[in-house]
Amino acid sequence: MDIKLFNTMSKQIEIFKPLKEGEVSIYTCGPTVYHFAHIGNLRTYVSQDIMKRMFLANGYKVKHIMNITDVGHLTSDADTGEDKMEKGSRREGKSVWDIAKYYTDVFMSDIKKLNILPATKYTPATQYIAEQIDLVKKLEDLGYTYIIDGDGVYYDTSKFKDYGKLGGQNLDELKAGARVEFSNGKRNVADFALWKFSPKDAKRQMEWESPWGVGFPGWHIECSAMCLTEIGDSLDIHSGGVDHIKVHHTNEIAQVEPVIKHRWVNYWVHMEFLNDLSGKMSKSNGDFLTLSLLEEKGYPPIVYRYFLLLASYRKQLNFSYDLLDGAKKSYENLLKKISEFICSGEDFNKDIFNSWKANILETLNNDMNTAGVIVLLQDLLKSDVDADTKSALVKLFDDILGLRLVENALALKNTANTISIPEEVKALAEERLVAKANKDFVKADGLRAKILDLGFVVEDTKDGYSLKQK
Ligand code: AMP
Ligand code: ZN
Repeated sequence: MDIKLFNTMSKQIEIFKPLKEGEVSIYTCGPTVYHFAHIGNLRTYVSQDIMKRMFLANGYKVKHIMNITDVGHLTSDADTGEDKMEKGSRREGKSVWDIAKYYTDVFMSDIKKLNILPATKYTPATQYIAEQIDLVKKLEDLGYTYIIDGDGVYYDTSKFKDYGKLGGQNLDELKAGARVEFSNGKRNVADFALWKFSPKDAKRQMEWESPWGVGFPGWHIECSAMCLTEIGDSLDIHSGGVDHIKVHHTNEIAQVEPVIKHRWVNYWVHMEFLNDLSGKMSKSNGDFLTLSLLEEKGYPPIVYRYFLLLASYRKQLNFSYDLLDGAKKSYENLLKKISEFICSGEDFNKDIFNSWKANILETLNNDMNTAGVIVLLQDLLKSDVDADTKSALVKLFDDILGLRLVENALALKNTANTISIPEEVKALAEERLVAKANKDFVKADGLRAKILDLGFVVEDTKDGYSLKQK
């Protein structure tokens, strides 16, 4: 079945054609680990997780590389300002390395809570310094670089004729902004740092020798070098938030394509932003929403995931607690309904299962239409499909949406059982189990009738029995 994806480069929905049959290579830009991820950042990772699950549900083998930016991401896209990592270190009075370790761990815990599947490999930028230097050298040999004394090695964007094609910017447009912005010795306003020099009078916590002097890499070169190293000079998908289109990914293309001399990435997939009431969600002012804050307020992370999946990844989404409350109720409702029939789903009807599956995949494959898939889930719960087939399908929905429906519905069922089933009923059920073991089926049937009189239904299961209210 075809998978359709919106490609930022062509600005169209395209039918996905893999480089290698049955396989997909994905590079996603990961976190800058100088602070907690805010729930906007996490939206991007959830959207990317759905993309990955879509390929898995279609039988693809997925190779997914995600970087961890632990050096070189400056507070300003204009290559001025401070390294965000050094800023984090100063804020907390810890070493940059400790900051990187701490916030990488928190990130891993956040994505686990959101049931985001782990990447095939995470690549911290500080472990690929040699590869980054090597790529800068190649660009230098090709004549794409120049040095600004006391500042760094810069990329000359006027040398790359396709510069700006991803974001639809042309060089005139870029030059128009020049009068206002550039003053620090750059030849063109869009030029960017490949390698920054350490300050002459101070030692940075993170710095390395290079052919141009001691310093550290620019943020854009990190992703290009790691992606080339881990995936190669052609890949299926490169992805990040929409803010990456005009600068980070535009610069990544400029760094790689002159070196490899052909198209690098087949599909550029960008995830829309989550906004809070003030507009843009931002980490820079230190006042932002985190997953832990939502948890403290009584919203389980999986409810936040469900809230996100109700919208298209290509539409901006506004966050509010009212909307989150609505999502929470709706999620709990799903669990309640599922808990009423969930079972092992082993004896499911294959024809019914396959026809639902085809429908679910067709909806999902239409540019990751998660909201449409949730509507199908609700339809399934209302349908008269038998409990086994329904249960097998809920497992499929779980694989695709990652909402832990089975696990949480089973937990709900168990809680409901332990809370509301009277001791007398439990004792009769135990007695019935013994009668059955002794093959005294007349007695067992009598006990079932007694249990029914008390308002409960006993059902045989693989491990014994289950009880629920009539
Ligand atoms: P950072 O840790 O700042 O490098 O950002 C990590 C990821 O989050 C990137 O892919 C960004 O594009 C994305 N991002 C940043 N802000 C938001 C937001 N408000 N909503 C969704 N994604 C965002
Ligand atoms: Zn990146």
